[in-house]
Amino acid sequence: MRNDNPIWSYVDAKGEEFCGLADRVFDTPELAYGEKESCAAHTQMLRDQGFRVTQNIAGIPTAVMGEAGSGGPVIAILGEYDALPGLSQEPGLAEPKQIADHGFGHGCGHNLLGSAALSAATAVKDWLEAEGIEGRVRYFGCPAEEGGAAKTYMVRDGQFDDVDIAITWHPGSFNAVDDMRSLANTRIDFTFHGKAAHAAGAPELGRSALDSVELMNIGINYMREHMPDAARVHYAYIDAGGIAPNVVQSKATVRQLIRSPDLVGLQSLIKRVRDIADGAALMSGTKVTSQVFSAVSNLVRNEPLCLAMQAEFDALGPVEFDAEDAAFANEIRKTFSREDIADTFKRLAMKPDYDLPLFDRVAPLDRVFMGGTGSTDVGDVSWAVPTVQARVATCAVGTALHSWQQTAQGKAPAAHKGMLHAAKVMAATARAAIVDKALIAEAKKAHAETMAESPYCCPIPPETMPPRGTA
Ligand SMILES: [Zn+2]
Repeated sequence: MRNDNPIWSYVDAKGEEFCGLADRVFDTPELAYGEKESCAAHTQMLRDQGFRVTQNIAGIPTAVMGEAGSGGPVIAILGEYDALPGLSQEPGLAEPKQIADHGFGHGCGHNLLGSAALSAATAVKDWLEAEGIEGRVRYFGCPAEEGGAAKTYMVRDGQFDDVDIAITWHPGSFNAVDDMRSLANTRIDFTFHGKAAHAAGAPELGRSALDSVELMNIGINYMREHMPDAARVHYAYIDAGGIAPNVVQSKATVRQLIRSPDLVGLQSLIKRVRDIADGAALMSGTKVTSQVFSAVSNLVRNEPLCLAMQAEFDALGPVEFDAEDAAFANEIRKTFSREDIADTFKRLAMKPDYDLPLFDRVAPLDRVFMGGTGSTDVGDVSWAVPTVQARVATCAVGTALHSWQQTAQGKAPAAHKGMLHAAKVMAATARAAIVDKALIAEAKKAHAETMAESPYCCPIPPETMPPRGTA
């Protein structure tokens, strides 16, 4: 019989309320910095649960913070609630079917992410009150994780200056303490300014901004062979210069997303991309300006917190799914290839089990890193304070983030079970940090050692402000 942690029952006591919150956010999918209704739902829940609420965090209308408790250490629990474009999907259906004209959907499970984090914070609050223990818990409702880097702005604004440790999680297809590896990245918009002209009548008078964008991309393609293996550069046309081929395009904008394993490597890659932009402008006779759209740092691993969370996760065990959960997971899995399924295991350096519908164990912490990682603005919080995050199974083995299958499973009973499980892992880790005074000290010591080697430098320039109310 497992040794029950007293804080688990505080999560269970309000389980239905928080599953309801996750479902409401699922039903109002909103894009980065446009999360009006989702943030309002979280703000209302903070008020209902008796938190002291501060809105407009870091000047961002869809960021909110709720604090409870007094004295003692300050534990931050981070939530998110933004959705993605192009991933609208009927929940509970194992085939693609869009439900909304705008096409937005919770294809990264952030409806669960935010609600579980708020559930964990509420459990810590209720436990502190019931036990009369000194300590403060802060829930941060963080918008715009998907490309908007809100947490980077929140760190820059000093929101974590008096926080001792930060805890978060991400939904997915397996149970593990996150290995805390991600890529630093930045999104920079390069706008080329040329000269319009009749493309047939007087082409010699025109200077094409669209040509400049294409030349820039060719330059970056030639750079790829000479970048570090883990670095990445992707692009999107923000403005192709119009729809008339017979007008020489006078203005065009391309967004370059540059990723690197660390901040230092990122800076050197940014310089090379800027040089390429200048070269493209020179070749095409245009001028180029640039604007940093967003940037995030790589994650910093904190060993004492990883070990503490692993102990709590091992004590709790894997999410307990039933036969109905497995049946739906198997329907979803019919849409996956063997490679999709193998990917879940590859991330954990495990041999694939192609017959497993839902993950049934907690991965060990001492696993081999197998690569294949994205970026998250949790990275910047991890430079500000010791940070740890869990990955908890909420969907079928093989489900990729940012897929219609992820959205399809976002309101399923398995998703609700996974999110409450995540809340327990986070709440138990917070409790351990409050009860075991040495843990925060060890976490801070490890953090200070990392920072001494490589100090933090906010990757967003001071003049760049967060977008407001836009997608
Ligand atoms: Zn996500």
